[in-house]
Amino acid sequence: MNVYDSEQIAKVLTPLGYEISPTIEAADLIMVNTCAIREKAEQKAFSFLGRLTALKRRKPGLIICVGGCVAQQEGRMIIERVPQVDLVFGTQAINRLPEHIRNISLKRCRITDVEMTREIMEFPSGIKPVVDDNITRFVTIMRGCDNYCTYCVVPHVRGPEISRRPENIINEIRELVEAGVKEVTLLGQNVNSYGMKEGLCSFPELLKLVNEIEGLSRIRFTTSHPKDLSEELISAFAGIEKLCSHIHLPVQSGSDTILKRMNRKYTRELYLEKIERLRKISPDIAITSDIIVGFPGETEDDFRATLDLVKEVEFDSLFTFGYSDRKNAPAARFSEKVPDDKKNERLQELLELQEYYTVKKNRALVGSTEPILVEGFSKKQGTEDGQERFAGIRWTGRTSTNKIVNFIDAKTPTDDDNLMGNRIDVMIEKAFSHSLWGRPVNVKPMPLRVKGEESYAA
Ligand code: SF4
Repeated sequence: MNVYDSEQIAKVLTPLGYEISPTIEAADLIMVNTCAIREKAEQKAFSFLGRLTALKRRKPGLIICVGGCVAQQEGRMIIERVPQVDLVFGTQAINRLPEHIRNISLKRCRITDVEMTREIMEFPSGIKPVVDDNITRFVTIMRGCDNYCTYCVVPHVRGPEISRRPENIINEIRELVEAGVKEVTLLGQNVNSYGMKEGLCSFPELLKLVNEIEGLSRIRFTTSHPKDLSEELISAFAGIEKLCSHIHLPVQSGSDTILKRMNRKYTRELYLEKIERLRKISPDIAITSDIIVGFPGETEDDFRATLDLVKEVEFDSLFTFGYSDRKNAPAARFSEKVPDDKKNERLQELLELQEYYTVKKNRALVGSTEPILVEGFSKKQGTEDGQERFAGIRWTGRTSTNKIVNFIDAKTPTDDDNLMGNRIDVMIEKAFSHSLWGRPVNVKPMPLRVKGEESYAA
């Protein structure tokens, strides 16, 4: 959500003449987009702001703005605590940014805008995306959340759930496709309840509309609340051609007692039933999840129930978090806090267990041929398995199941010969814990050459 918001921030400032600066030192305006979901992210934002003090001293005309969830939560306090900050803007103030920046430039005033409305933020269309070399992009379809999980600040800092109109979403995706985007990830705190409050189309109906967009290759979405995962959406995995074979379905805990304390409104049994339905409809679907360990009151038995659920589901991968108290979230007031060392111990055990299943799932793909959407150059040019090698261009892409695949194509990309954005078949040769290594089928790769050797290795 913050990646998308950052792109919108850059986009609304383009008409004012701003463009992305290559370095922080060269910038006339710095936007710090913050996250309040975990304590660590909030601390990082303040420490980053602290580091900007010297820069502002050297460059008094510099405008420093703080947005996002911490800005929404702390509001004026940031202006008071951090003297170098000129603007604090909340999660619903992005479209008012041009006006604020103009005022600050002209009057050198300091502004706080954390006003919450019940209107959905829409941005002007027709402005060229600022980040324009990406093949995959996020598109927010709704904002806010009505679920009030007891550990979470989102409903407090992003407000109640509001959905965007389908025609605005479709127009935005069409513009992205015209700019070269091939894959979109539709974003919402709970996409399953898209449009319900406003009486718009359902989320699966929206998926069908997006599926019709010519030139778009793939659709993903996140996040899906298990309690609202409908039969219609499960069936979409079999019926909507461009929908990728991956669902992120956060379970958070395998213990019914903890799920109840978290206010998740589903049981372990219901969650497992949904997994069964998904695998029946789409046997190869990748399932990923979020788990919080050390929630207040989590006993050893509760944690064992989580481990058992992980063994039963065999997730493709997991995002794991040690619980941390968040201001405004009810669980901050819950007693029976789990000590940090116990939390870390449980986190470690869970990570090790999941590593086993991630590698197992990845290894199962070795020998298969997977269609990959090529997203760009791999960061590790010239290396394979830690050894320096030169063998053409190393590309990276993803399977429909969202697994990263790196591979080498011998050709040097030119305008006519650039794999970026192409869908190509890759034979999977090796599996690692976070990625796969493959060989393109029907694209002749050059043999590997070890650095410093004259001849090509076999
Ligand atoms: S569904 Fe729960 S965890 Fe997700 S954003 Fe809403 S309140 Fe937070």
